[in-house]
Amino acid sequence: MKYKSTRGGVGGLTFTEAFLMGLATDGGLIVPDNIPIVDLDRLKDLNYKELAFEIFKLFIDDIDEGSIKDLIEKSYSTFDTEEITPVVRKNGVYILELFHGPTFAFKDVALQFLGNLFEYVLKERGTYVNVLGATSGDTGSAAIYGLKGRENINIFILHPHNKVSRIQKLQMTTVEDRNVYNIAIKGTFDDCQAIVKSIFGDVEFKDRYHLAAVNSINWARILAQIVYYFYAYLKTQVDELYFSVPTGNFGDIFAGYVAKRMGLPIKKLILATNSNDILYRFVNFGDYSKGEVVKTLSPSMDIQIASNFERYLYYLYDGDCEKVKVNMERFQKDGSLKFPLDVLKKVREDFDSFRVSEKDTLNTIKTFHDETGYIIDPHTACGVFAAKRSGYRNVVCLATAHPAKFPEAIYEAIGRYPEAPEAIKKLEGKKQRLKVLDNSVDEVKRFIEKSLAD
Ligand SMILES: *Cc1c(COP(=O)(O)O)cnc(C)c1O
Repeated sequence: MKYKSTRGGVGGLTFTEAFLMGLATDGGLIVPDNIPIVDLDRLKDLNYKELAFEIFKLFIDDIDEGSIKDLIEKSYSTFDTEEITPVVRKNGVYILELFHGPTFAFKDVALQFLGNLFEYVLKERGTYVNVLGATSGDTGSAAIYGLKGRENINIFILHPHNKVSRIQKLQMTTVEDRNVYNIAIKGTFDDCQAIVKSIFGDVEFKDRYHLAAVNSINWARILAQIVYYFYAYLKTQVDELYFSVPTGNFGDIFAGYVAKRMGLPIKKLILATNSNDILYRFVNFGDYSKGEVVKTLSPSMDIQIASNFERYLYYLYDGDCEKVKVNMERFQKDGSLKFPLDVLKKVREDFDSFRVSEKDTLNTIKTFHDETGYIIDPHTACGVFAAKRSGYRNVVCLATAHPAKFPEAIYEAIGRYPEAPEAIKKLEGKKQRLKVLDNSVDEVKRFIEKSLAD
């Protein structure tokens, strides 16, 4: 399998090259040359890790099979259940629990794998990297847990000082491994992102320090996420499935779209947004235009530009790279794209979308708890609300985070705090390590230089 850019300027990449490149050098996103069709009968009796191997093998042909198996084994041995992503049936929907990894959110499924893959590839090539990224909370902790203690890798994560949740901060800053550097910026998440972008733009600095990114546009992250759609199908044994996905950057739901194209019998993907509704407007009205980011109870979906959207656009335009490029450049310039009815019709064959208010989020958590005793987190609640609203039967709702990550919202909904897993309880009172810096590119650069010189 070879990989290329959605904008047509890069092609013929191996899986490893695509993985290391992250964002394509022509500004596009990386996609496989084709999407392989899967023989579902062959997958029937597999457990999660075996299933992951069958799927990965279709997309990776430059790493030997034994090593792929080792990477899978290592990546998913950190989960607290053998099932990795169990499916439970509650209140007329299936809940696909994606929060059994070390940071209790679905991003672990991809980032545990990415960490192991990084270590493996760097060792093979005899080189090292310094990962640099910005986070509003969840991605940072999942990336840190994916990369902590790994050889040939340091990780620098910027977060807005005093503006991430208490548990997210604890998760990031209590890691003791010497290769992890938490930087708290006196500013907003946007300031953090701007600093990272500016540092990556300084090519001389970037090359000198072997800087690399682990953001949500890496193809390897999508690949790891495809697996649980298949797993849900094997567990439910239902032949006409719907998936409801709480969506921000369009990464998770895009993995479902790829699974559908691989032959998984998905009738439709239900895209749930909170008040940050750019994707809801896209699916329902053909209006993909940027708005102001609003803070909600489901912060990991507080996003107005969906970084994986370009990948979908590529398939929507049947692989026409020129068309993708023209449209993405227009979006860059105007902050807005409008889609005509015939294109929209095609979108709706694969997607429905619902927007979920704060009130409906809280009500859904409460009703679900009243009726089942099961607590869903505010992100999952958006997906469950959308599933109910759709009226479809056989909906699998992706549970993207453990409720204990968002105790305040749960308290608001049901009047008590959720039981925290042992690993979260243990964080309390642990020593925190972080460096508080001004909102300044130069300060961050100097900190990186100094840390690496020590
Ligand atoms: C990141 C995240 C999402 C959104 O996923 P995307 O791939 O960005 O669409 C939803 N829920 C939780 C808990 C997350 O951490």
